[in-house]
Amino acid sequence: MVEIKKIAVLTSGGDAPGMNSAIRAVVRKSIFHSLQIYGVYRGYEGLINGEIKEMELGSVADIVHRGGTILRSARCDEMFTKDGQKKAAMQLFNRGIEALIVIGGDGSYRGAQDLAQFGVRVVGIPGTIDNDISGTDYTIGFDTAVNTVVDSVSKLRDTATSHERVFIVEVMGRKCGDIALRSGVAIGAESILIPELPFDLQEISEKLLRGFKRGKNHSIIIAAEGIGDIRDLARKIEEYSGFDTRVTILGHIQRGGAPSAFDSVLGARMGGKAIEVLLEGKSEVMISFIKNDIIDRPLKDAFKPKPPIDRKLYNLANELAI
Ligand code: ATP
Repeated sequence: MVEIKKIAVLTSGGDAPGMNSAIRAVVRKSIFHSLQIYGVYRGYEGLINGEIKEMELGSVADIVHRGGTILRSARCDEMFTKDGQKKAAMQLFNRGIEALIVIGGDGSYRGAQDLAQFGVRVVGIPGTIDNDISGTDYTIGFDTAVNTVVDSVSKLRDTATSHERVFIVEVMGRKCGDIALRSGVAIGAESILIPELPFDLQEISEKLLRGFKRGKNHSIIIAAEGIGDIRDLARKIEEYSGFDTRVTILGHIQRGGAPSAFDSVLGARMGGKAIEVLLEGKSEVMISFIKNDIIDRPLKDAFKPKPPIDRKLYNLANELAI
């Protein structure tokens, strides 16, 4: 077993609320165990350029409630090359840093996996609002993003009701429909459109008509960004149903804001666990939230296809929105 004395942490890919809580946990738990802990700024870009600073207890004071990431994040093309990866590993070795904790999505994990080939001990923490990482039930930031969608839709609902309109709200998630499904159920959406499952526009329009006949004064459809051109979809629904249909794309608002209590706690638990697994001598692992337990599992599990969408929740949503 390798005894670890110096650890570094970075955030990479899209920022997500709760990342700061994970950084704080990594820093404080390292210091608790008398380890030296370094923060790498601007993801792999900063690692290659040597933007590395030792962190102290005070470095992470007053951040737990803040969105984004105090370490900043970046996407870095050089990290895709062997040369870039070697430079990144050398920046760590030159400082005597044996291990790197990467908070980010599966792309960031691939970078970590590459660094492991050079002998860096690596741990991945899933940080992305999209919840699109295999091997964990939840990623840090997902819950906050869902809450942001719920909050935004409650505001849109006022206009939808006043003007008796159909609103189609596009939410983030890339190819993953989790934000759409979870927020759609939370707000009682008439329809939830996700890339994982087919949908029928005629049926959706008929459902809208039935609703309005029953006296509904507005309808909300939640659509995941991964389903394609939402404006085209709105045009077709308007054509089929005859209702005034408006599109709202929530965009990056979903990535910002203070983390929910759930994401703060998730970040703290995952950050703490990352230090524990390094102290146990493990490497090339990811930290996962499975059935309310925080566990570690092989990093390569993150590269497997994501399990199918929660079909039970999807079916329930359809049953409730008859
Ligand atoms: P998000 O889901 O929020 O986009 P992500 O971690 O998946 O997060 P990516 O843009 O895929 O985001 O990856 C972030 C960075 O990780 C890339 O800019 C690159 O520096 C590094 N990276 C991604 N894929 C690889 C790879 N195959 N090999 C080496 N480095 C990689």
